[in-house]
Amino acid sequence: MRFVDEFRAPELIEKAAQEIRRLTDPQRHYRLMEVCGGHTHAIYRFGLKDLLPPNIELIHGPGCPVCVLPMGRIDDGLSMTEQPDVIFTAFGDMMRVPGTHGSPLEYKARGADVRIVYSPADALKLAQNNPDRHVMFFAIGFETTAPSTALTLMRAKAEGIRNFSVFCNHVTIIPAIRAILDSPDMRIDAFIGPGHVSTVIGCRPYEWIARNEGKPIVVSGFEPVDVLQAVVMILRQLQAGESKVENQYRRVVPWEGNRAALKAMAEVFTLRSYFEWRGMGFISQSALALNDRYAEWDAEKRFHVPGIRVTDPKAAQCGEVLKGVLRPAQCKLFGKECTPEHPIGALMVSSEGSCAAYYGYEHRKASELVHMAI
Ligand code: SF4
Repeated sequence: MRFVDEFRAPELIEKAAQEIRRLTDPQRHYRLMEVCGGHTHAIYRFGLKDLLPPNIELIHGPGCPVCVLPMGRIDDGLSMTEQPDVIFTAFGDMMRVPGTHGSPLEYKARGADVRIVYSPADALKLAQNNPDRHVMFFAIGFETTAPSTALTLMRAKAEGIRNFSVFCNHVTIIPAIRAILDSPDMRIDAFIGPGHVSTVIGCRPYEWIARNEGKPIVVSGFEPVDVLQAVVMILRQLQAGESKVENQYRRVVPWEGNRAALKAMAEVFTLRSYFEWRGMGFISQSALALNDRYAEWDAEKRFHVPGIRVTDPKAAQCGEVLKGVLRPAQCKLFGKECTPEHPIGALMVSSEGSCAAYYGYEHRKASELVHMAI
């Protein structure tokens, strides 16, 4: 299949791995952060870590939108299911994420009208088909998914569909990277930049990372050759003492971003002054809210939202894993109390969560080896 097979070709993978070995200084320890959960998933799925020299450490970043949402926001969204006429809708990724009193699926089992949708447009259609009910869409995601929420709201407004609202939890990637760089316990040499987000925002917003922080950042695709090529490009910069933004994912990411998507976002959203991120605290200007033109479709204005702050279970170390300070398996609950079947943190639920990726590939591989040895 074009655009997939050539990025999984064994000879190209081997060639990139050889180049990485050639460029790696054995005296140096490299800490590269892959910002996006999609990259974390690809790294484990394709066993890319095993192709890298041991002194290249890949740190998992905060780019999984379900994982960074604090439990209080999940509780806030679920509180709307108490309204008798409300249909709660969300992407499938959200359905097993635990809130204080259970996940959306558990609320459904207790009788709440909770439904999975594949897009905000599906939720809007549900509202059109149920004029006597109110459909609330629990919106999550970085700039990748924010444009489709914006376009749906523009359509709701244009068509006068008023039994529809959005509980907006869209977050923005740049302030999160800034928070990581400001964190005293982090030392990152370079970033593998997020591919999906960059299709919308382009590469320009990362320039300050290279210019002010002196860190290379290479926006990368998600196939094995993409990720390895991004590592090659980073190592070349580090070897030459350079720091610049490069675009490995040129076949998808335009340098200037997607102007139509950015325009739709500007029409509908405004920046929140601050927003709480799981494990990272409050980060200023890091999330979007509906602006006054769309107040009528804003679930936070339409319903009473408790806004309670909830701390994660004490032993859960989701925050440290999200910031890349701990690896998934270093969390005390990993693989014991917290598994994909019985998740305690969102990182074990989402397909982009580093704990789920590690459990699904590395942990399983290790268990199988142990069983074979027995
Ligand atoms: S193992 Fe579970 S509790 Fe620990 S960091 Fe991962 S998701 Fe959070």
